[in-house]
Amino acid sequence: MLVVKVGGANGNDVDNVLIDLAPRKDYVLVHGGSKEVDSLAEALGRPPKFLTSPSGVVSRYTDERTMEIFTMALPGKLNTEIVARLQSLGAKALGLSGADGALLVGRRKEAVRSVDNGRVLLVKDDHSGTIEQVNAELLRTLLGGGYVPVICPPAVTPRGELINADADRVAAMVAVALQAEVLLLFTNVPGLLREPSDPGTLIPEVPRDRLDHFMNFAYGRMKKKLLAAKEALDGGVPRVVIASSQVTDPVERALSGQGTVLS
Ligand code: ADP
Repeated sequence: MLVVKVGGANGNDVDNVLIDLAPRKDYVLVHGGSKEVDSLAEALGRPPKFLTSPSGVVSRYTDERTMEIFTMALPGKLNTEIVARLQSLGAKALGLSGADGALLVGRRKEAVRSVDNGRVLLVKDDHSGTIEQVNAELLRTLLGGGYVPVICPPAVTPRGELINADADRVAAMVAVALQAEVLLLFTNVPGLLREPSDPGTLIPEVPRDRLDHFMNFAYGRMKKKLLAAKEALDGGVPRVVIASSQVTDPVERALSGQGTVLS
């Protein structure tokens, strides 16, 4: 079982990944869509805002209106487009947000701590949360019927509130729930870089016991990928690869170890 996550930031080449995935069997695709959410938010006169946690992890500030925009952009538009494209490539794809079949159920954070000009603020209207349960049975049923689940946030609470969950961490949770052999996190850089602006500084391998040390090299959203990788490894997934989507045959390459291999 393979769990693949494609990034949604600028510079990701989702189509390369879809072309390489389509002929395969036994995989689940998870996607984010930060670029899509940003441009819809701009178009609707709600420029995106971000929160930075005291430990330096950046996440989207998702108030109620932003949650609506998020839902329009991700399951509404991007997920449907990815499903249509995978089908045109011959795969039996089926799109799911975390609300469908209670696929990703979690808890909304009551308050989020955010650093602003050196001060720590408590943000209470943010719809972000933590996933606590993955409906693995639903995924197994779909996979058993030959369908490829194409998953995106939001997740949902038992009370029916939608929550913004990070797609890298969704992918990690899904990989753990399905006990995947490998989790591939595709992004717009060749992997974890010692110097983020220099693609020539790829860190090829990160053993689990050195992950906290390597966390020091990651800024902003790359930190989320390392956190996701850590969650996957700790949950029993033996191998995680952070790799570029900007090459042909990205899945093949990542499986052969190109990128940053965490194990
Ligand atoms: P995606 O949408 O593909 O998940 P993100 O924008 O969330 O992509 O994360 C990848 C980004 O993380 C890179 O484009 C880069 O700007 C940033 N980054 C921060 N630190 C590092 C690092 N040490 N190595 C590589 N990328 C890094």
